[in-house]
Amino acid sequence: MARRKSKKLTVMLPAWVVVIIVIASIAFYFFYLKDHIGSDTDKNGNNGNFSAATPAGFENLPEGGNGNNGNFSAATPAGFENLPEGGNGNLNIYFLDVGQGDCMIIKFPDNKTMIIDSGNVSSSNKQKIKQFTDLLNITVFDYLLLTHADADHVGNFDYVFENYEVKKVFRPNVLSTHANAANLNEGINVGFSKAQGGTEATSKIYCDFLLGLQNEEGCEDVVFNKDSDFGGTYTEGGRDYEYTFDFLTPVAEITDIKYKNANDYSPIVSLTYNGTVILLTGDAESVMENEFLNGYKNNYPDCDLIKIGHHGAETSSKQEFLSAVKPEYAVIQCGVTTSYKHPRQLILDRLQAMQTSVYRTDTNGDIAVSVSYADDYKFSSDKIYCVKSDMTENYIGGDTVYNNSHS
Ligand SMILES: [Zn+2]
Repeated sequence: MARRKSKKLTVMLPAWVVVIIVIASIAFYFFYLKDHIGSDTDKNGNNGNFSAATPAGFENLPEGGNGNNGNFSAATPAGFENLPEGGNGNLNIYFLDVGQGDCMIIKFPDNKTMIIDSGNVSSSNKQKIKQFTDLLNITVFDYLLLTHADADHVGNFDYVFENYEVKKVFRPNVLSTHANAANLNEGINVGFSKAQGGTEATSKIYCDFLLGLQNEEGCEDVVFNKDSDFGGTYTEGGRDYEYTFDFLTPVAEITDIKYKNANDYSPIVSLTYNGTVILLTGDAESVMENEFLNGYKNNYPDCDLIKIGHHGAETSSKQEFLSAVKPEYAVIQCGVTTSYKHPRQLILDRLQAMQTSVYRTDTNGDIAVSVSYADDYKFSSDKIYCVKSDMTENYIGGDTVYNNSHS
């Protein structure tokens, strides 16, 4: 119908009218439109950095994210104002204050991204993850590590799978016995039953994690052991700066990994960059610490900073383990709570006796660590960012505060 109509119109117009319309259109373009298009182009500046929606007066504003400061919006966590931007040569680790639980986000020197654990399920913890990913412009996680199946670690990973692209997952060899596990494809629900010597995860939230993984298109799925290491390189001025993420435990073959205690599935990991060694431990307890001690006899990484195991509980951070790795700085992810009484006084006393500086998410809030490719000096407290309360308070245990005996 439309074609017939236009044909009819063309036939009705005399040829001289068509010629005049064409000439008028060309004149209109040269004398009016061209100028206006030109002036918009000038407004945009010479690098095309800003779109036409740039607010007036912002023409010379440096782009956010590439400098040391302008990185964060108004929602910048207190104490992070001078934190160097992660990536582009900097290794940044963010220990999110998720209360009782673990959640870390890492921006590697080559701009790859990682999330380790996700805290207890709660809307405020989801909001916390969103706050940081917004600040860091993260929409994709190159790596996701679930250390073990407990609720205070796996809690918000269904949200992560729903809202971010996840490219590679490292997960423990833990069997789900939740009813919804019937919906898991073959090869997803691995691990050993209790009768076989493993630890079963009964929770829906762990099963939801496995379902999220199953539905994540193109995601590489790795059940971790000591061979799951990865790394990357940042190149600047013709020099290569490498980082490594080494799974030191579990040392068993993947198909043989089983522990009686759910926490002991947590891997002990060393993250190394430009001479700095950071140890991550999940909730590993003494069984896993012993596996580490036996597996790396007299060849222990001399660690600059450790994420203390199991929120500072007494079942982790045995003296032999701490003496082997000699941490100079420690981060404890824990909440203000009367029930768990984390961290325990005994562990804080051990750390204080070793002159290890302790940072805690319950007293310091969000904590970040930044290691630069350019630094050739030792790791020190000026690479740790947080709101600093009186740090001496950080050596007072939850059990002391709540006046309870050790257990
Ligand atoms: Zn935990």
